[in-house]
Amino acid sequence: VFQLSVPLNFLGSVYRELRQSLLDMETLFNLQKVNVTIKDKPDAKPLVLSKGGEIKFENVKFAYHPDRQILRDLTLTIPAGKKVAIVGPSGCGKSTLLRLLFRSYDVQGGRILIDDQDIRDVQVDSLRKSIGVVPQDTPLFNDTVEHNIRYGQINASLDEVKAAAQRAHIHNTIEKFPDGYGTKVGERGMMISGGEKQRLAVSRLLLKDPPLLFFDEATSALDTHTEQALMNNINGILREKSRTSLFVAHRLRTIFDSDLIIVLKDGKVAETGTHRELIDHDGVYSELWSAQETLFNEDGSEREATGQD
Ligand code: ATP
Repeated sequence: VFQLSVPLNFLGSVYRELRQSLLDMETLFNLQKVNVTIKDKPDAKPLVLSKGGEIKFENVKFAYHPDRQILRDLTLTIPAGKKVAIVGPSGCGKSTLLRLLFRSYDVQGGRILIDDQDIRDVQVDSLRKSIGVVPQDTPLFNDTVEHNIRYGQINASLDEVKAAAQRAHIHNTIEKFPDGYGTKVGERGMMISGGEKQRLAVSRLLLKDPPLLFFDEATSALDTHTEQALMNNINGILREKSRTSLFVAHRLRTIFDSDLIIVLKDGKVAETGTHRELIDHDGVYSELWSAQETLFNEDGSEREATGQD
């Protein structure tokens, strides 16, 4: 028995590693168009979150193509443990900013610091392990719901998977699937809605529980009611754990309660402040807010009828 358990343990660890590498690959694919040439410097050290995850962009410049600058001179601070929103017109570089943080690409000027460490000087693996992302479109694996959530933390128990799903407001929906948590999803599995997919992605992230959390339009496919309920849960978790979080969102209703709102325009920071400050400032944000407010009824519901969950 003893002899047999050794190779089995070995196989188990190979299996776990395979799973882990799938997870890492997925994280990479999620952020898309990954630059595989990014390598650790010979003296690279693991990222140490000594201040709790303060993020700084200092005069950051970036272009995908030399003739089209996306970030011109971006300087901003995301305080540790705070909920920060990045807003701005479509194509202004919000997702790019997240990709740079994840080092899918490196900056072409200036630098990005996390707790005073230039992210180009730390081990890229340790950086990516500290970050959890809910991207605009999460690919699902051809596997069960349970496993799709567990990719966030491969050693998690089913109870932990369920707890994450509960916080992501999808547990009740999953229970109604034909085989519950055992239901196969993905391309060859059951078709699930965009909103369900987003909540599976959030479950995965909550299970991973990284120190830095990025949400890129993570709730855009949900109706206002479900989105609000999910955001309440996420906000509760972020507050309780004092996590640094970054939200990219078009619907300002989901982020207006952020500790800080950063408005990007033309590759730079146009305005920063709290919702109140930005409304008083009467600039870009205030204009966006007024335009969106006409889409809501007085009770906060959307004007056009929706019906999900
Ligand atoms: P949205 O709000 O529409 O999601 P965004 O502010 O997140 O937009 P990004 O996705 O950061 O914008 O893209 C910024 C600009 O860079 C866009 O004009 C986009 O077309 C361009 N872009 C994004 N990825 C690439 C790429 N891999 N190669 C070339 N151009 C790109």
